[in-house]
Amino acid sequence: MTDYYKVLGITKSATQDEIKKAYRKLALKYHPDKNQGDSAAEAKFKDISEAYEVLSDEQKRQMYDQFGANALKGGGAGGGPGGAGFSSMEDALRTFMGAFGGGRGGDSVFESFFGGGFGGGHAEYVTQGASKKAEIKISFEEAAKGIDKEIAISNYAQCSTCSGSGARSQEDISRCDACQGTGQVHQSRGFFSMSTVCPHCHGAGKMIKVACSDCHGSGKVKHKQRVTIPIPAGIDDGMRLKMAGYGDAGEGGGPPGDLYVYIRVMPHDIFKRDGDNLIIELPVSLTEAALGVKKELPSLLSQKPLRISVPHGTQPGKILRVKGEGMKNVHGRGKGDLLVKILVETPVNLSPKQKSLLEEFQKIESPDNSPQRQSFLSKIKSLF
Ligand SMILES: [Zn+2]
Ligand SMILES: [Zn+2]
Repeated sequence: MTDYYKVLGITKSATQDEIKKAYRKLALKYHPDKNQGDSAAEAKFKDISEAYEVLSDEQKRQMYDQFGANALKGGGAGGGPGGAGFSSMEDALRTFMGAFGGGRGGDSVFESFFGGGFGGGHAEYVTQGASKKAEIKISFEEAAKGIDKEIAISNYAQCSTCSGSGARSQEDISRCDACQGTGQVHQSRGFFSMSTVCPHCHGAGKMIKVACSDCHGSGKVKHKQRVTIPIPAGIDDGMRLKMAGYGDAGEGGGPPGDLYVYIRVMPHDIFKRDGDNLIIELPVSLTEAALGVKKELPSLLSQKPLRISVPHGTQPGKILRVKGEGMKNVHGRGKGDLLVKILVETPVNLSPKQKSLLEEFQKIESPDNSPQRQSFLSKIKSLF
C-alpha cells in the first residue's frame, strides 16, 4: 500500500503548511516539463500529486489515516486495481496548478509561488497619459531676461460628455467576459504560464456596448489650447521645462501626462556663454593695449553701457572679469560674471609716417619692454 506520507517525505503529524511545502518542492523537481520523456519522473509526479491531493484535504486525510488508500478509491469496491488517485496526468497537473495558483485556475505558477504579480485579479487599468514635447526658439536677450511665451498645443483631453468612460451611459459598460474583468489573460506554455493583456478589452477589463458619440468610445477628444510657458531668466540652449499635467489625459482616471518644452536659444553676435558666465571678445589696438584705455561695452540686461578699463601693458588673451554682469542663474542662485577677453590687434596698412614712427620706436625699444621675449631668448640660447 502506498504511504502518502512517505511519498512526500513528511511525518504523520505534518501540518498543512508542511504538506504544501513538501509537495511544492517535489512537484517542481518532478514536473513533466522539466523531465521530458522520463517516465520514472512522470510516475513520481503522479504519486506525489496523488498524495498531496489526499493529505491537503483534511477530510480525505482523516479517511486515509483510518482506512488507508482503498477507502478513497472511487466507487468503493468497484474501483478496480490502481483506481486510487489519478487516472491521468491532467488530474495531476490540475492539482499542481491548484497548489501553486492558490485555487485560481490558470494563474502563473511563478507569480503565485514567489508571491509577486497580480494580487487577487485586479481589474484596474490606470495609466498616466502620454507626455508631449514642444520646442520654443528664443533670442539670447530673451534667455538673459526671461520671457513668457505662448504656444499652441494639441492634446487628447478627457471627453466631458462621458467623463472619459467612452460609453454612452453607465449601463452601456459591461465586464469583459474574455478576462472576467481582470484585463489579463493567461496562457499556459508548459511549465510556465504567461499573462498577457486581454485582446478583447485591451486591458480595460470592461466592454462598451454603445459608445459615446463625442469620443467614439476612446474616452478622449482632441483638444487645442494655448499655453503660456514662463521661461525663466538664465535659461540655456537645450534646457527642458516641464509643464506638469499638460500632456494627454490618463486612462481609467489616471493622471495626465506632462508637457516638456525644449528651449533653443539663438546665438548672439558678440556674447557667448559658459555656464552662467558671459564671454565677450574685445579687440584693442596695440597702442591701447600698451597705454591702457577705457572702453564701453553693451550690456545684455540694462540699457546703459558697461564701462571697463583695460590697464596699460595688457597682453593678448588677457581676461578681465566684471563681477555679477553675467547671466542670471536659472535656478535663482545669483548671477555669473562677464569675462572680457582682450584681443590685441597688430596695426596693418601703415602710412609712411606711421611706419617711420614705429621704426624710431624700434630703435629705442629696451629688453624691459618685452619681458616674455627676453625670457624666451634666454631659454633657447642653450639649444644653439
Ligand atoms: Zn478582457
Ligand atoms: Zn465620450
